[in-house]
Amino acid sequence: MYRTEVPVEMNNFSLIILGGGAAGIFAAIAAKESSPNSTVAVLDKSAHLLAKVRISGGGRCNVTHACFDPKSLIQNYPRGSKELLGPFYRFQPQDTIDWFEKHGVQLKAEPDGRVFPVSDSSQTIIDCLLDHARTNEVEILLKQHVEAIEKTSSGFQLHLKDGHSLSCQKLLIATGSAKAGYLWAEKLGHTIQPPVPSLFTFNIPHFTLSHLSGIAIDPVEIALRNTSLSQKGSLLITHFGFSGPAALKLSAWGARQLHDSTYQAELDINWLPNDSEESIFNTLREAKKRTPQKTVGATRLFSLSKKLWQTLAEEMDDQKWIALPDKRLRQLAQKLVRDSYKTGGKSTHKEEFVTCGGIDLKEVDFKTMESKICPGLYFAGEILDIDGVTGGFNFQNAWTTGFLAGSSAQRENP
Ligand SMILES: Cc1cc2nc3c(=O)[nH]c(=O)nc-3n(C[C@H](O)[C@H](O)[C@H](O)COP(=O)(O)OP(=O)(O)OC[C@H]3O[C@@H](n4cnc5c(N)ncnc54)[C@H](O)[C@@H]3O)c2cc1C
Repeated sequence: MYRTEVPVEMNNFSLIILGGGAAGIFAAIAAKESSPNSTVAVLDKSAHLLAKVRISGGGRCNVTHACFDPKSLIQNYPRGSKELLGPFYRFQPQDTIDWFEKHGVQLKAEPDGRVFPVSDSSQTIIDCLLDHARTNEVEILLKQHVEAIEKTSSGFQLHLKDGHSLSCQKLLIATGSAKAGYLWAEKLGHTIQPPVPSLFTFNIPHFTLSHLSGIAIDPVEIALRNTSLSQKGSLLITHFGFSGPAALKLSAWGARQLHDSTYQAELDINWLPNDSEESIFNTLREAKKRTPQKTVGATRLFSLSKKLWQTLAEEMDDQKWIALPDKRLRQLAQKLVRDSYKTGGKSTHKEEFVTCGGIDLKEVDFKTMESKICPGLYFAGEILDIDGVTGGFNFQNAWTTGFLAGSSAQRENP
């Protein structure tokens, strides 16, 4: 059982962690494992810890990604890639897998690289983290409202809404994308890069492909017009627009531009990114030569589903090849490599979303996760201006920065 009331005798901690999410709980365990005599408390405003872990990955928790080379791994972070390189040499996905195994949880990698618990249940991850927080005697205080944080000569004083005060030598803020965390950090001297959503799906008004909802095409190249941003991979057609890894990744890399344009943008789609327009045109001419009396829609060409092919062919769908002059074949080839859709907004992707923006990375020492502005203050997880693409990279950021923050904050407290 966790406490929801702070006992009067409880006061001076070696480390207080604000936020009991993935980063905060992992940091607490790391702190106690590297310095067993230290006193560590986690304060959370809610009644439940690890709430996002519970709902993550559709309830399965995509813990990390099977990408074990730090230089490749950082390519998956639209914000924070440069800063994460050093930390990933110290704690990367292999360390995450080893850590969970050592703490009793077997993980498995799926063919696309996403790593899940063998149980396929996020509860396994929650149980593991909370069991080890308990056995390491991490003090957990729920439903706590910190009203103010004061920097003192020996550390920090936290003033709680119920009138209590708690002091600590070191303070770690790991409140994810919660506004309070940004405000505390600002008051302690930090700059906040404006938070905006990342990892969302695209809404297309009057969507001409909505009847194909549920169809995934792999690979497709999707690009944000007038930028250098594009993604190649699996694209999912939904009732309202585009989702799937390629669209989600594009939303992450374009999070700021898309926010600034109020999500009004032009998407260019190459349905056949492995073929050139010229080779597609030649394939169409070949079809015309071979099967002149067949209709375009009835001809199976390329790796597209029949319904998508018929939709993309538009009014050519029920025409015979013989009736189509080369000019029309050229138009069809162009559409297949440069189809375009106007976005009118975004929707939240239910399986994973994240906030771009947060603590300015220049103000943090990535060897220890300590603030360069306020000694003794640490940050970990999503509160930092770090976000990854979909696939387990966001939790990896939480584990890595949480591990570094927790173990380095307590290194001098043997
Ligand atoms: C639906 C969904 C699914 C996801 N699935 C995946 C996935 O499968 N794989 C992946 O890599 N990423 C996933 N993510 C992203 C991932 O969950 C986050 O990147 C990760 O949880 C960040 O961890 P964190 O500890 O920094 O923040 P959080 O998990 O957000 O934890 C912050 C904690 O701080 C507490 N808090 C907030 N305000 C206060 C306050 N004022 N005082 C005290 N405590 C406070 C909160 O209650 C919370 O417990 C998903 C996100 C969502 C929303």
